[in-house]
Amino acid sequence: MIYDLIIVGGGPAAVAAGVYAARKKLKILVIAGKDGFGGQSLVSADVQNWIGTKSVSGFDLGKMLEEHLRSQDEAEVLEDFVMKVEKMSAGFRVHTENAKALETKTVLVASGSRRKKLGVSGEKELDGRGVAYCSTCDAPLFKNKIVAVVGGGNAGLEAVVDLLSYATKIYLLASGDKLKGDPITQEKIVKSGKVEIILQAKTSEILGDKFVSGLKYDDGISKIAKELKLDGVFVEIGSVSNTDFVKDLVQVNKYGEIIVDHKTQRTSLGGIWAAGDVTDVAYKQNNISAGDAIKAVLNIYDYLNKNL
Ligand SMILES: Cc1cc2nc3c(=O)[nH]c(=O)nc-3n(C[C@H](O)[C@H](O)[C@H](O)COP(=O)(O)OP(=O)(O)OC[C@H]3O[C@@H](n4cnc5c(N)ncnc54)[C@H](O)[C@@H]3O)c2cc1C
Repeated sequence: MIYDLIIVGGGPAAVAAGVYAARKKLKILVIAGKDGFGGQSLVSADVQNWIGTKSVSGFDLGKMLEEHLRSQDEAEVLEDFVMKVEKMSAGFRVHTENAKALETKTVLVASGSRRKKLGVSGEKELDGRGVAYCSTCDAPLFKNKIVAVVGGGNAGLEAVVDLLSYATKIYLLASGDKLKGDPITQEKIVKSGKVEIILQAKTSEILGDKFVSGLKYDDGISKIAKELKLDGVFVEIGSVSNTDFVKDLVQVNKYGEIIVDHKTQRTSLGGIWAAGDVTDVAYKQNNISAGDAIKAVLNIYDYLNKNL
């Protein structure tokens, strides 16, 4: 059996693509990963800009997406992890962790991105025990605590803003010699009087036994290794696209994002499309991911009709 289209992902991009492709009566398979549906905002307490819905938790948004997709008779779903996409003389073979190789005429990559890690000692061991990657989700856990936010871009600044209502003191560590985030947000955090900004700081270790107790960093100004006493560390240094399974086939930019033609979502290799956070799209949002994936499916539909 050869699918018309295999969609990789379980976030808004993949689900939107799945619903549209099923309604076009394409023979499709959505390989949704192993974390269930919803993608990155699954961990959000409250998503307030999913159009048509004033407020929904990430968990419920995931359930809504899954229900919509599974309601389409034509949509086949597999909860598995794609390891590799192989180019064949005609079409592709998709290898997953648990299923045997699956054949398809076209592929839509909608595998999103994941948070970048610092890669320092203590980070993995204390993940969920004071080390956090989602201020929207976890800021309330740090009421009356002392925390550090690592990352001087917008993600770092927004994490600080989330923490302002809870933490008693916040250290903001940036590796550069100035903050990169929005000036308005910078002003807000400076005015709060709660935030100490440390520039040219390179985190070298997260300390703690059962829970985070501190952080070590190399101070690029004094050239001395320093230590902070803390209850928590938020790592906010950006994200990395999930492209391992196709990175030898399609072109990516210097950030590792798949380069697409934004009119059609085609990648550099004929037969593979990409949409959502995995691509070089300028703005990473749920609605944008869904819209771009729909654009891709409509283009795939035209392509399949012309290549039949
Ligand atoms: C904490 C947080 C809060 C956010 N809040 C908002 C918000 O309020 N509003 C908003 O619009 N945006 C928000 N965003 C951004 C939004 O979550 C993303 O833009 C959106 O999730 C991107 O959707 P996507 O489908 O492209 O990718 P993702 O949501 O990243 O989904 C990718 C999917 O692919 C799966 N996958 C990955 N690799 C494989 C593989 N090899 N095989 C199979 N499956 C795979 C993953 O498990 C996941 O299901 C938030 C992001 C974060 C991190």
